Amino acid sequence: MTIKRKLAAAYRVESGKGFRLKKYDPGDTAGLREEDAQEHLQHSISQMEEMQNKLYAQDRWSLLLIFQAMDAAGKDGAIKHVLSGVNPQGCDVHSFKVPSEEELDHDYLWRSVKRLPERGKIGIFNRSYYEEVLVVRVHPEVLSREKMPPQLIGKDLWQERFQDIRHFEKYLAHNGTVIRKFFLHLSKGEQKQRFLARLDEPEKNWKFSAADVREREYWDEYMTAYEDLIRNTATKHSPWYVIPADHKWFTRLVVASVIVETLESLKLQYPRVSAEQRKALQAARKELDRKSA
Ligand code: ATP
Ligand code: MG
Repeated sequence: MTIKRKLAAAYRVESGKGFRLKKYDPGDTAGLREEDAQEHLQHSISQMEEMQNKLYAQDRWSLLLIFQAMDAAGKDGAIKHVLSGVNPQGCDVHSFKVPSEEELDHDYLWRSVKRLPERGKIGIFNRSYYEEVLVVRVHPEVLSREKMPPQLIGKDLWQERFQDIRHFEKYLAHNGTVIRKFFLHLSKGEQKQRFLARLDEPEKNWKFSAADVREREYWDEYMTAYEDLIRNTATKHSPWYVIPADHKWFTRLVVASVIVETLESLKLQYPRVSAEQRKALQAARKELDRKSA
């Protein structure tokens, strides 16, 4: 097995039954050294470039990559580094923030549906509809702003949302959208170090947010919510990857490995030219040759 496939398999969760977050160590590096990882990462990035071209040319599949994590886990950096080789024309990144008034006037998947990648494209969700079973679950006042009819908010609400999400993802899978979901799993201690660095290093000051520090107080509630959502939404066609996030170089390597492995599994090919099209191409060549200059 190649290192990529090994890494992708090690952190994949495709059945949530009995899933325990505790079994995953945020500091894990699978025994690799940073120098070796660099080389593998570069290789993955160049493989991605070639396969993305085929994905685009073939115009059949789309790839949806979902990133979820606590603050400072490195979502932005992972997206930037791992996708540095892909053609920006074939890739759309969207960051989901607190919903706007207009968005709150719709069902919670509405804004995500509008951002789904077209065929041939890679779509990246930096946060996603999974916030609907995370921040909304941890802070009941967020739910109260969603304008749901009160009769529909019952004890089964979260199970209903998990079911909605499972069905939605299955529907997308049936239509050719391949989904891969990344939970960048950071330790609370490493998050503190990264917040301190944002205070201490002037070029990182802009990233510091006092609100993020307050959100740390809900750490355990978030971990419980993550564990529960992974248990309920990890499936074969739409797996979660619980990626160790205390070492950024390792996070990026695993994310890249998963993307390469996923694209490889699609066995992408440039579209074949039919005999008729080939004739047309020959005719076009003759035409070009005949005309001077
Ligand atoms: P960065 O801080 O690196 O810019 P970020 O993803 O943390 O990235 P922020 O603007 O700081 O971006 O945070 C976005 C906020 O929006 C988060 O607190 C998140 O919980 C919140 N959010 C996202 N989706 C929803 C949602 N559906 N309902 C309520 N809040 C949401
Ligand atoms: Mg933030």
